[in-house]
Amino acid sequence: MAASTIPAFEHTSMDKIAPTCATARKAFLSHKTRDLEYRKVQLRKLYWAFKDNASLVEEACKKDLGKSQFETYLTEISWVMNDCIFMANNLDRFAKDEKPADIAFTNKFMGPRIRKDPLGAVLIIGAYNFPIQLTIGPLIGAIAAGCTAVIKPSESAPYAASVMQKIMAESLDPDCYTCVQGAVPETTALLDEKWDKIFYTGSETVAKIIAKKAAETLTPLTLELGGRNPAIITKHADPKLAAKRLLWAKMLNAGQVCVSQNCTFIDREILPAFIQEMKNSLNEFYPKGPRNSPDYGRIVNQRQFLRLKKMLDSSNGKIVIGGTMDEADLFIEPTVVQVESIDDSLVRDESFGPLLPILPVTDLDEAIRLANEVHDTPLGTYAFGTKAEMNKILDQTRSGGASLNDGFFHASIPTLAFGGVGSSGQGAYRGKASFDTFTHRRSVTTTPAWIESLMDVRYPPYTAAKLKKFSGMNEVKPNFDRQGRATGWGAWFLGLLGLKGLAVLIAAIGARAYLRSRSKL
Ligand code: NAD
Repeated sequence: MAASTIPAFEHTSMDKIAPTCATARKAFLSHKTRDLEYRKVQLRKLYWAFKDNASLVEEACKKDLGKSQFETYLTEISWVMNDCIFMANNLDRFAKDEKPADIAFTNKFMGPRIRKDPLGAVLIIGAYNFPIQLTIGPLIGAIAAGCTAVIKPSESAPYAASVMQKIMAESLDPDCYTCVQGAVPETTALLDEKWDKIFYTGSETVAKIIAKKAAETLTPLTLELGGRNPAIITKHADPKLAAKRLLWAKMLNAGQVCVSQNCTFIDREILPAFIQEMKNSLNEFYPKGPRNSPDYGRIVNQRQFLRLKKMLDSSNGKIVIGGTMDEADLFIEPTVVQVESIDDSLVRDESFGPLLPILPVTDLDEAIRLANEVHDTPLGTYAFGTKAEMNKILDQTRSGGASLNDGFFHASIPTLAFGGVGSSGQGAYRGKASFDTFTHRRSVTTTPAWIESLMDVRYPPYTAAKLKKFSGMNEVKPNFDRQGRATGWGAWFLGLLGLKGLAVLIAAIGARAYLRSRSKL
């Protein structure tokens, strides 16, 4: 069973990095990861290694981030264990050839299909805030898809990084799946190697470095980045519900959550009630105060602590809840700040900590306009209001995902595709999407020998007769005129009646049929 201590965190020596990558590539080319049973065995072994090392994972997350046992279980251990089972159980279905849609009758003779081929040897670079989930989650997708992989956990969560290395070494085929530890120099050395995909989770700034490097070799990327996510609360929202849900979304992991709201835009009318409800919820969550609560985490390191402190010190807003900090303990109290402008330091940058700026607005249009100005493509959008208002928010904003009437619920469903858009990321994973992101959909046809006489039309010499025959088989007739209007009987009829007229006609026909059937009784 599992040893009881976390191994020391050690950077991988630079001269081992290239050979490690070469091993992963060679292992891929040995084709052993093509076998579905092999992949399932890897996933199942990974499951048991997490089960057996669960207490070490808890200890590591406590040491790295002051994470409570509950949060570590919820967002790290059970997350990856369930994912191993989900992938192993669904792998046959995901890996099965697909029948493509929209194939013309004549082309069906060639049996077109889509094979699911592994991309190859992939690099996975993790972030620190959910150190296990954000690194092992993509690895599970890579294993399922039949790739070999090297992971580079975040050096900012060194205990979790060491536990992951131990778990991988204990459970996975070492030729195919390895862990490189380190910071910028080691990651740079990894980026100098050729990969078939790089899966990166982290900041926009580093993503640009990675994307530039990947462009040199046209390596495809999945980028899971951050965002200045807006929450928008209209005057019709329930302030108690909004306060409780948004407070939770920002207190989890002491606010070090990429999908938590960065700024809350709230209608002035319900601002006082919202602030009062935030106070009530805070007391409910942490009756002895967050500092004394085993449920409230800490900031990952001094660098991030000082960044957050500077952000708060530079704000022109008014602190309405919290505000205390302790550098020695890396503690920052949940801090609600009423700000007046989107130029405030707390709104301009992603806080990635327990700072909650709230910006009062006059109406929903102003909230949407400001949210779009702050970040036009954040990772998440959170809307509180009537159904029509929430739909308007969806219609007039863009974001990787969105949760209505909640903070980031969409991101807590482990099998729902998750990813950003624009500058908050590209590509997605989780559930089937984790398999897809490491898979090449390879279109394949098989041309039967017996069809050769029909194929004659494609061979030179090209004659007028062949062209006529081919265009007869090939040409699609337009169902629209030169003004772009739909044509044909259906369109004509609908144009004449309109939708309402059509509904009345259908109802009249139905009524007539009913009356006739009654009269026959
Ligand atoms: P980070 O970008 O500082 O570090 C992430 C990884 O990049 C680490 O493994 C690190 O070693 C590596 N790295 C750092 N500098 C590098 C460089 N110059 N060259 C090559 N590699 C380098 O990110 P972080 O501080 O760990 O995470 C915070 C950011 O990540 C936030 O913006 C947050 O929103 C985002 N994030 C996004 C998601 C998501 O799923 N979309 C999840 C977590 C965090």
